[in-house]
Amino acid sequence: MALIFHTNHINKRFVRRVFENTLINIDDYPYHFIKEWDIHIWPLSDTNTQFFEHIKTTSGQKINPDMPSGVTGLYRMDLYLHDSSNAFKERENSDRIMHEICHARLINTTHFVTGVHRNLHKRFTTTFWYWNRFKYTKFTLSIIDIRKYL
Ligand SMILES: [Zn+2]
Repeated sequence: MALIFHTNHINKRFVRRVFENTLINIDDYPYHFIKEWDIHIWPLSDTNTQFFEHIKTTSGQKINPDMPSGVTGLYRMDLYLHDSSNAFKERENSDRIMHEICHARLINTTHFVTGVHRNLHKRFTTTFWYWNRFKYTKFTLSIIDIRKYL
């Protein structure tokens, strides 16, 4: 898995930890996922609404340039996130990252879209620590429970 950052301010350590913790907690460490996927992280300001106008996003709605969104295809994910390390923005970012990973894990199955969207409120949580500027910070990550489909 290559995480390719096109951002300036986002906390890369935080984004990596969200990826790792989502993947590990959904099932055993998925090596094929790690090996094959390229993940591009873009700032919200790069959201090209005209380009995406006719694309049905895996976020389940039209792309809104004010809200984190994502597009997941085979082996490629584009995430448009708040380019910020503000705690509230990080929470919104984490939810979108987790959501798109769930789609990615179900790609090429009949559950690709519905397996995520029908279970938006069936969640479990995990906590992790990450380095935030000067100190370790604890974060509780809420994950959509798609485990029954794997
Ligand atoms: Zn979705």
